[in-house]
Amino acid sequence: MQLKDHSVEALREVFAARGVERWRADQVAGWLYARGVEEVAAMTDLSRELRAELAESWEVRALEVEREQRSADGTVKAVLRAADGARVEAVVIPEEDRNTLCLSTQVGCPLECSFCATGAFGFTRNLSTAEIVDQLCRMRELCGPERRITNLVFMGMGEPLLNLAAVLEAIRLFVHPKAFGLAPRRITVSTVGVVPKIGELLDVAPVHLAVSLHATTDAVRDELVPLNRRFPLDALLGELRRLDTVNRRRPVFFEYTLIAGVNDSLVDARRLPALLRGIPAKLNLIPMNPHEDSRFLPPDEASVDRFLREVAAGGLRVTLRRSRGPDIQAACGQLALRDERAGATAAGALGDRFRV
Ligand code: SAH
Repeated sequence: MQLKDHSVEALREVFAARGVERWRADQVAGWLYARGVEEVAAMTDLSRELRAELAESWEVRALEVEREQRSADGTVKAVLRAADGARVEAVVIPEEDRNTLCLSTQVGCPLECSFCATGAFGFTRNLSTAEIVDQLCRMRELCGPERRITNLVFMGMGEPLLNLAAVLEAIRLFVHPKAFGLAPRRITVSTVGVVPKIGELLDVAPVHLAVSLHATTDAVRDELVPLNRRFPLDALLGELRRLDTVNRRRPVFFEYTLIAGVNDSLVDARRLPALLRGIPAKLNLIPMNPHEDSRFLPPDEASVDRFLREVAAGGLRVTLRRSRGPDIQAACGQLALRDERAGATAAGALGDRFRV
């Protein structure tokens, strides 16, 4: 069994069922997560019997660092390997007042968004809770105490809401005071909009929600984000209004990848404020990060600027996201473990119509 698959509450129950006192789970969490100690022999306040049991029938580590790359801008990316050989990428992004870890939730992704390199990479499997949590444990070691990880974003490989049970158990560990003790507002979960799962996520912890929007009409969004055919804009935005995010006092972030000639017209910019009315929305514009699986390109700087000013003029809060770590392929949509693939797959056929 994997220790890190269990929230503190769940571990108390598992321990109790095995005749170990419940509060021992809090001690173990303190060692693993608060102190970052994974050597059972070093957990000196545990009883000799419990240490023997942990060493014999529990596993502690779920991921090992296979490769690490550091960008000129300070961004750190690592390829992490699971016991079955599956690999995922995690990225730490240093900013002025914070260090943000970008977490993966799946090996690849099944959703095939036509502009995303992870989508072209295909889908292998969900990550376990331990594999999600170990991304923080391993990256914390790599970054050291002078670059303490303060924020988490579920914006790496995969769709978090398609692996919700494991993601929720990981979030319970991230926010538990005996484990990592992060404030929920320091955690952001990004989704393309798996509508029936959004409420379930927000019920567990008041984390920030980011929604990958990318279009102002169903016709365009159907092509960019194929899941839109199941959960179209009306259903998605209706659910966000229904969830009463205003009372939760949390903005909903909308991500909008700007792609030249596809979703960057001034008509789109004018539609956005009306489309998101009634939701405490903040729009993040991300110029498309080009990669070899897509012919989509970002608009030129002047067009990005015009788009941004047009959105702001409509009364919607909007910021431009500068990509980090592009020299090590760590930017949004570039996580695809390029060297692991036998042959590059073409981007989804759906994207063809919009290629420039
Ligand atoms: N599946 C979730 C979590 C991944 S977040 C989601 O899509 O929300 C990754 C973010 O990067 C998403 O907003 C995605 O749309 C964006 N992205 C993907 N490919 C990109 C690219 N080539 N350039 C810029 N942003 C991209």
